[in-house]
Amino acid sequence: MFKKVLIANRGEIALRVIRACRELGIETVAVYSEADRESLHVRFADDDVCIGPPPSRLSYLRIPNLIAAAEITGADAIHPGYGFLAESAEFAETCEASNIAFIGPTAEQIRLMGDKAAARKLATELGIPVVPGSLGAVEDADAAVKVAEELGYPVIIKAAAGGGGKGMRVARDAAAFQQAFSLARNEALAAFGSAEVYIEKYLDRPRHIEIQVMGDRYGKVVHLCERDCSVQRRHQKVVEEAPSPALDQKMRERMGEAAVKAASRISYVGAGTVEFLLDPDGHFYFMEMNTRIQVEHPVTEMVTNFDLVKEQIRVAAGERVQLHLKGNRVRGHAIECRVNAEDPFRNFQPSPGTITAFHPPGGPGVRVDTHIYAGYTVPPYYDSLIAKVIVHGRDRQEALARMHQALDSFIVEGITTNIPFLQRVIRHPDFEAGNVDTKFLEREPGLFKPE
Ligand code: ADP
Repeated sequence: MFKKVLIANRGEIALRVIRACRELGIETVAVYSEADRESLHVRFADDDVCIGPPPSRLSYLRIPNLIAAAEITGADAIHPGYGFLAESAEFAETCEASNIAFIGPTAEQIRLMGDKAAARKLATELGIPVVPGSLGAVEDADAAVKVAEELGYPVIIKAAAGGGGKGMRVARDAAAFQQAFSLARNEALAAFGSAEVYIEKYLDRPRHIEIQVMGDRYGKVVHLCERDCSVQRRHQKVVEEAPSPALDQKMRERMGEAAVKAASRISYVGAGTVEFLLDPDGHFYFMEMNTRIQVEHPVTEMVTNFDLVKEQIRVAAGERVQLHLKGNRVRGHAIECRVNAEDPFRNFQPSPGTITAFHPPGGPGVRVDTHIYAGYTVPPYYDSLIAKVIVHGRDRQEALARMHQALDSFIVEGITTNIPFLQRVIRHPDFEAGNVDTKFLEREPGLFKPE
């Protein structure tokens, strides 16, 4: 087992990883930018190193600084968390070259799945249904128009190297296509350094359903059922739950099998997520694979009672996957709400600043993953996630009641948060009925209006 793990991240996920290390008896190293000096991950880690000024490209994204921090502190492994360098093949490679274990898949696996067009090809070869579209990346605008015409509008143009909802553009008709195509290419180039894009049919009312997988070095891959992440704003997740209200046991097993097939094909090691879209007729389509722990992993932890971060660390250290879900059945129901420092009634404008009062919710079945506290200043440099409220109940109804209770008693003062928006979302009759798709929020402008 590792002796000392450096966490190449900040915020709630850095704390999450520190907790897992503590339970495993592993020492920890926090890294921080000058803006994060007062952060809890710095306080809770055994060791800490400042890695640069506030902008992440000068700190959390600087590979040499992270490697140097690991070498100075004698860390023998690095956990990348999510975001930042979590899906950087170059980072994984540099770690290995420096004799530091990267807690995640191999650089080659990251590279393959990070090219979403290549991942689509792989799924197709395995007989896994993919969203109808171009087989790989499209060569140029002429080839792209051809694909779009064949598919029929609307279509979605996506960056092959994309992630986080960036570099995606929807074109509703031929007239809009040219512009959407060049915008997507430019956005992709600016955000990911590659203008490569591919095209998919834009499905009408899909649900976003993803399967959690975990693999070890001995070729074993297991799945831990699904998460339903259909409540999205601008293609970004807002509320997640498990199990999905839309799946029966047969569908669950079919999607789980498809996910395991894709991950097994590349002998995937570590935690990963295979994302699918599910259409209203019950057809599912492979979309992409994320090669990291996800923000929403706690909902799976709540319904399986497994610790995914500890398992990531164990398999990275060469142990076998120990998780086994009997009969692919989960326990009860879990929901997660992402609490952000942003103003939901002013176009979700970020709201950094100092927190003057803080009281997190609690009680049976309530978990809050957060790094904030009274007196903490949310810096303006990073993403706006300040807490995840996760609830678990015997069934969906109990989970919902617990989420009402939890959000209603969550006190954060001094900054604006999206809690009032989340309260509305979970009280919406369609969400209550479990009857949502990825365009649900788009159809409900009322949810975004101030009182
Ligand atoms: P990213 O990696 O940037 O998050 P994804 O490929 O995972 O991008 O897509 C994010 C979201 O965009 C999906 O959850 C879904 O809501 C929407 N989306 C992506 N592809 C399609 C499609 N072909 N049809 C309809 N919606 C889509």
